Amino acid sequence: MNRDPVANSAGTVLSLDDSLTVLPGIGPKTAAAMAAEGFRSVRDLLLHLPRRYEDRSALTQLGGLTAPGEWILVRGRARHIRTRRIRGRRLSIVDGVLSDREGEIAVVWFNQPWIARRLDDERDFYFYGQVREAKDGALRLTNPEIEEAVDEGERIVPVYPRIGRFGGRRLRRLIAVCLPALQRCTDPLPSAVRLRHDLPGIRRCLQQLHAPVPECETEDAFSLADALNRRKDRYHRRLAFDELLAFACAITGRRVERLKTPAPRVTPKTAAAAARRVRIPFNLTGAQERVRDEIAADLNRRVPMARLLQGDVGSGKTVVAALAVAMVTAAGRQVAVMAPTELLAEQHERTFSNYLGRGATRPELLVGSTPAAERRRVLRGLADGTIEVVIGTHALFQESVAYRDLGLVVVDEQHRFGVVQRSALAAKGRHPHLLVMTATPIPRSLALTVYGDLDLSIIDELPPGRREVRTERRSEKARRKVFDFLRREIADGGRVFIVYPLIDANDAVPAAALADNEQRVRRLLPDAAIGTVHGRLARDEREAVTAAFRDGSLEVLLATTVVEVGIDVPEASVMIVESAQRFGLSQLHQLRGRVGRGSRQSWCILMTDDRVGEPARQRLDVICRSHDGFEIAEADLEQRGPGELIGTRQWGPAGFRFAHLVRDMHLIEETRRTAAELQADGRL
Ligand code: ADP
Ligand code: MG
Repeated sequence: MNRDPVANSAGTVLSLDDSLTVLPGIGPKTAAAMAAEGFRSVRDLLLHLPRRYEDRSALTQLGGLTAPGEWILVRGRARHIRTRRIRGRRLSIVDGVLSDREGEIAVVWFNQPWIARRLDDERDFYFYGQVREAKDGALRLTNPEIEEAVDEGERIVPVYPRIGRFGGRRLRRLIAVCLPALQRCTDPLPSAVRLRHDLPGIRRCLQQLHAPVPECETEDAFSLADALNRRKDRYHRRLAFDELLAFACAITGRRVERLKTPAPRVTPKTAAAAARRVRIPFNLTGAQERVRDEIAADLNRRVPMARLLQGDVGSGKTVVAALAVAMVTAAGRQVAVMAPTELLAEQHERTFSNYLGRGATRPELLVGSTPAAERRRVLRGLADGTIEVVIGTHALFQESVAYRDLGLVVVDEQHRFGVVQRSALAAKGRHPHLLVMTATPIPRSLALTVYGDLDLSIIDELPPGRREVRTERRSEKARRKVFDFLRREIADGGRVFIVYPLIDANDAVPAAALADNEQRVRRLLPDAAIGTVHGRLARDEREAVTAAFRDGSLEVLLATTVVEVGIDVPEASVMIVESAQRFGLSQLHQLRGRVGRGSRQSWCILMTDDRVGEPARQRLDVICRSHDGFEIAEADLEQRGPGELIGTRQWGPAGFRFAHLVRDMHLIEETRRTAAELQADGRL
């Protein structure tokens, strides 16, 4: 079967939407295997980009010197191949020796046991990988890629990530065959946009990515592969732009839809009168006043508010939420306040009762552990409208919950929830206003992506009189001194949190557990009143313990991260985090936010094992140095990626293929603006 690569069997020219079966050598079976990997059309293959380019004319001879860090291409044989499993660590190692005519080098593959089956010591293979230094100082080629052959005379070779069992030369050829389809592809980006953002055309972009040719003499004279690897970024940027623009357009569309739906309006007069009735025992900060006014302005419009309120821990978001609640109830609508944990919901019930005073009906609590009879009473009150404010967890939007006239939904600590839950709750009212609060300040452009259609308010000012929480890292060796300090601090009227990553010890996770350490802490602090709180305690028990800590009858609280959000005890002055290396930076910042809420000098001590490695130490030093939630969140984002930072669950719809949320921050802003312009021009 001889098919012209450019024309398919019907004699027509290959196009982007053609299925893979038009390609030479791809039958229904192979096509099905590719489809299982998400590749169905010629377009899909053309969007499968090379990881890098290799200059295959530069074979390394093993006799010469190589230095750690160098990438080398070797043609040779693998001998003495062994496969080992390291039990308990779920690690497999394939190792052996590579040799060519000139010399040899050790080689190792981690967690790729199939490599051993692929190799045979009768034949030469090409190995491409990085030379690294092993623990004993010897050099070895680590995780090299293997190819059976490289094309003779080929110099620059694009190297693609495998697609299932397709890889190497076969995949390279297949993609090359698809390239002519680009001739018939029209650029989806208006040329004005392309010019303004200095983006290459889509045809040239893909052509150059798959089959690069040098752009100038010097490029060729220098190291061609290096030059191409660098240039790749420019074409990548174009694809990231397209991807982010599509996303931005979708969000703009959603926003336009929202602005078409009517919402219950609260007039400025009603809002101002309601705000005056809220009982606030302090003066609002300038930032709090500004956000209050932004919310009032939103409520005065006839479309639903959708506002994200970011403010560092302790910046005083709750009182702003209480003001919004008062404004909406004054207009005769119901309000639901959703918190991520029962503990926080319970605390909010108390706080909101205080702020709202006796004028409004008392907020009611609805959580998972609400007893059945009580629950029935609350549901009735919500359905007939006698309950104006309900505070709870996700129990608030279960199917059985119906509201008479829901006017506002407040979601606290949004980063603990998924987007889906948020919209499920919003669906309960016809078009309620929405106020989402988060204490994980995320960089603005990431916020715009994740929370896309929300307007952003920021409280960037802490209440007056706060002192910075002094933060230090201490290893196990210093434990005795740390506890000496705790004894003095408690004697002086301070209160102490000790937070553990686990309740019970767990073999799979090397970290301190609360249950294991309780006795030891009691021994080390014999005179202190100590309580414990964690997610497995019954609700009334938990409430009793936190109440005792709040009123001072308990001085030390051993806890899990249930205290990460919400617990507000102004006298709490020390936060000890055990096995601190187990926590993310943003999480540590949250935990630290539990102390330093009053005017007392407070401390946060991050305990680590003596053995904890240098990277973990450096990570923790970010917390010791910085008190700026945005800066910490950014470091977290760089180190752990957006999934960890904002909760993987919400990441689904925004999982990008080309765009990288840290590297392409500025593109997020650019595409947002572009989407708005396209929308304004009526092109969307
Ligand atoms: P968060 O933004 O972390 O939710 P909170 O709303 O819990 O912060 O407020 C933290 C603490 O600061 C609370 O004890 C609250 O009473 C207090 N607070 C809030 N605003 C002010 C203010 N303007 N002046 C003084 N104290 C304030
Ligand atoms: Mg809060």
